[in-house]
Amino acid sequence: MTQTSSAASGFESFGLSRNILRGIEFAGYIDPRPIQAEAIPTLLEGGDVLGLAQTGTGKTAAFALPILQQLSEHAGRSPSVLILAPTRELASQINSDITELGQFTSVRSTTVYGGVPIKRHIEALRSKPEIVVACPGRLLDLHRQRAIDLSSIRTLVIDEADHMLDLGFLPDVRAIIDLVPGNRQTMLFSATMPKEIRQLADSVLHRPKTVDLGNSKIVSTIDHELYPVSQRQKLPLLQYLLNDGVFYSAIVFTRTKHRALRTARQLKNAGFDAVALQGNMSQPQRDRAMKGFRDGRYQVLVATDIASRGIDVANISYVINFDFPSTPDAYIHRIGRTGRSEQTGKAFTFMTPDDEDSVAALERKLGKTVNRCVLPEFAEDTAEGDGRQNGNTQTGAGRSQKRSKPESALEAAQRRLNQRSGGQDGDRSRRPGGNAKTHGGHQSSRGRRSRSRHRKHARRAS
Ligand code: AMP
Repeated sequence: MTQTSSAASGFESFGLSRNILRGIEFAGYIDPRPIQAEAIPTLLEGGDVLGLAQTGTGKTAAFALPILQQLSEHAGRSPSVLILAPTRELASQINSDITELGQFTSVRSTTVYGGVPIKRHIEALRSKPEIVVACPGRLLDLHRQRAIDLSSIRTLVIDEADHMLDLGFLPDVRAIIDLVPGNRQTMLFSATMPKEIRQLADSVLHRPKTVDLGNSKIVSTIDHELYPVSQRQKLPLLQYLLNDGVFYSAIVFTRTKHRALRTARQLKNAGFDAVALQGNMSQPQRDRAMKGFRDGRYQVLVATDIASRGIDVANISYVINFDFPSTPDAYIHRIGRTGRSEQTGKAFTFMTPDDEDSVAALERKLGKTVNRCVLPEFAEDTAEGDGRQNGNTQTGAGRSQKRSKPESALEAAQRRLNQRSGGQDGDRSRRPGGNAKTHGGHQSSRGRRSRSRHRKHARRAS
């Protein structure tokens, strides 16, 4: 029986080793999340799991902890665990969670994904890490070059399977499944279950335990509204929201890579600490953007759907859909970047008259209408653009309500920008350490997270 005086007491009943419990304590977990409570016992017994869960539910630890336990008990030939992830960002996030939880064990893990020189991976694989967290394309390249032997894999995790499908990676995933031994433990996680993923799950999982967290729902901690607006007014409205609100950090989603770059540039020119994240950027650029956003150096991340899933960054106060998401699921994924870990968050979605069909599809999926919010400064243009006024129109909560519109929305945004560049106080007040009140607990918890990471790196370096 393992014993610990740690805060991770809720995890003791799983029978995890003392060193793993120390890792859990270090990560600051006290009680298992529902997905962990349901999946960990089955996984420790060697069973397969189908997890209907998205990032933010604690699914990484749900599979990482049993994997660490099994590797501590029987270290076999390496690598023995393969974790497939659709994006580089998710792969590196999984790797850093495993490294954190497993830091008091001797288990090693590495990442494998495109955008970095393949030689680096070949080198890393030579040291025989037990766990490889990989994006499918680069893993297959390495296999073709005989730099990795997949015949030793005993545990396979397929994470964000529906995102793999969306990105066209399913053929690669299937090719990889053919390369790993059939006699293995398999876990498959997916936020949604389209037909192709159901078929994949049926073919790779053996009598799995299904853990269904009812993902296609929006958590109650997210306050989400639609903002009718014309195309022309999107940027001024975005700047208005970012200028007017009290927030810690925001993700702005655009439909195209080009728009992400351009919008980030426009925000930067307007004085915001903004950075783009999109698929045409090099891997070092993507890493710098994500790291800077996590560390708080950038307050606004302007991204394509590359960041709509998988990415778990603490304390994102706002999600702003600059362009309407292409599907209802994409809407749910995107806005799910905020309101995480029981914190509150706000999601603002811009809708132009062209988006009406998509809005109707979203409301059908949610089974209810989403509140429309027209800010007085933008109302006239919206009405023109939309050709209608919505019945449940209201003004943004907490914003000053003006009945008349003495200046155009563009002028209003410009005036705010001028005020902004003229006096730095407004800017500073939104940053941690400023005087303004931020969303509950954001400042301190982000500081904690960042301090925990610094401690971790310091330990590793020493
Ligand atoms: P994931 O869904 O794996 O991306 O996890 C989302 C976030 O929840 C991550 O920041 C984890 O560190 C955190 N987390 C996972 N399990 C727990 C837990 N039992 N208690 C508190 N936080 C957790």
